[in-house]
Amino acid sequence: MASIKESDGETITFKSLGLTDVLCEACLALNWKIPTDIQREALPLAFQGRDIIGLAETGSGKTGSFALPILQSLLESPSRLYALVLTPTRELAFQIGEQFEALGAGIGVKVSVIVGGVDMVTQSLNLAKKPHIIIATPGRLVDHLENTKGFNLRSLRFLVMDEADRILNMDFETEVDKLLKVIPRERTTYLYSATMTKKVAKLQRASLHNPVKLEVSTKYQTVAKLKQYYLFIPCKYKDCYLVSLLNELAGNSFMVFCGTCNNTQRTALLLRNLGLHAIPLHGKMPQAKRLGALNKFKDKSQSILVATDVASRGLDIPHVDVVINFDIPTHSKDYIHRVGRTARAGRSGRAVTFVTQYDVELYQRIETLIDQKLSLYPTVEEEVLAMMERVAEAQRHAKMELQESSLEKKRKGLEAEEKKKPYAKRRKVDTENI
Ligand code: AMP
Repeated sequence: MASIKESDGETITFKSLGLTDVLCEACLALNWKIPTDIQREALPLAFQGRDIIGLAETGSGKTGSFALPILQSLLESPSRLYALVLTPTRELAFQIGEQFEALGAGIGVKVSVIVGGVDMVTQSLNLAKKPHIIIATPGRLVDHLENTKGFNLRSLRFLVMDEADRILNMDFETEVDKLLKVIPRERTTYLYSATMTKKVAKLQRASLHNPVKLEVSTKYQTVAKLKQYYLFIPCKYKDCYLVSLLNELAGNSFMVFCGTCNNTQRTALLLRNLGLHAIPLHGKMPQAKRLGALNKFKDKSQSILVATDVASRGLDIPHVDVVINFDIPTHSKDYIHRVGRTARAGRSGRAVTFVTQYDVELYQRIETLIDQKLSLYPTVEEEVLAMMERVAEAQRHAKMELQESSLEKKRKGLEAEEKKKPYAKRRKVDTENI
């Protein structure tokens, strides 16, 4: 990272921005030697107590730009249930939780990550201990507010919405409205995203006080070191092209994005049947498996993460070399987030988007959004289709495996239902016929 000089020639450091010594040490321990652009802009304003809307590229260090001021304020006036960070995905919540814990380790900060798919009772016990910082997905937090005795957010001083445009969109409308009703209006609010909404009505819902808007990247620009390509192919050959691309670029780390949980699972099975080190990540997997998949990809024991958009936002995995949009994103903004998984921390990266005869309109919307024409990824069709037979065989196996696992789930569901009935009313579950 280049050294940044103030006009009088002094190097800008965390200390010169006003960060207290103990937190400067915490940054150094994480090897954060100089503040990133967004941190340089955000910290002084945050120390003045301003509300902030931050438009920052993924990987820009935006977590630090809201975590550090919160921790500094907490040091000045210690109190429990001090800050709430809302995120759209569970994985992002854990990632932010880790950063708060790392930065706050020296000052004894207690952090709770409250997300779905994890035991509610354990979470209730954690909340009863009144952590300083809560990182949560909206649905589970509302669940606790409604059902966990004694838990409320009345003492909250900071509210952060990370990936705020996603949090403020329709999917989370009910939960966010409920949360905003029980959070003090006298608070500091930070909204951060790489693709911030401009819709005033939505922003007003977050009830900011005279916010300052920071922008460290031009509108919806993806990083300069990212090479972006498209492949225009018939829909029926998508699997074949995917396998061919993964073989051609073997040795790299890939994220392959699919449109649905089912297609994610199918694609991962297909690739595994062909001997490739692929692992799925989607919302229909149990939480422990989701984190397991992410960790296996992070520690490089699996080189291909096949995922839905649950993995497209905010995840910090520096070694992703290639992003493949196997299914084109239906919301063009998701394109920015997906390809933002690569070319991180100064590295270069590639993104290849599959465009079939059905995707032309969506593709054009992406080009308009990023104001850029993608290059055609060079392929030789005969060479790709030479793999057709092997791919077809792997497709058949993947289909069978999917059917078997859905039968297994049904069987387990029925067995669980049966166990709930009084013994006399139980019928033997005939697993053969399901
Ligand atoms: P984020 O954009 O918050 O997801 O951060 C992306 C990555 O940058 C994380 O791995 C952080 O640990 C790292 N990072 C954040 N701030 C700095 C800094 N000032 N210097 C070096 N690395 C940083």
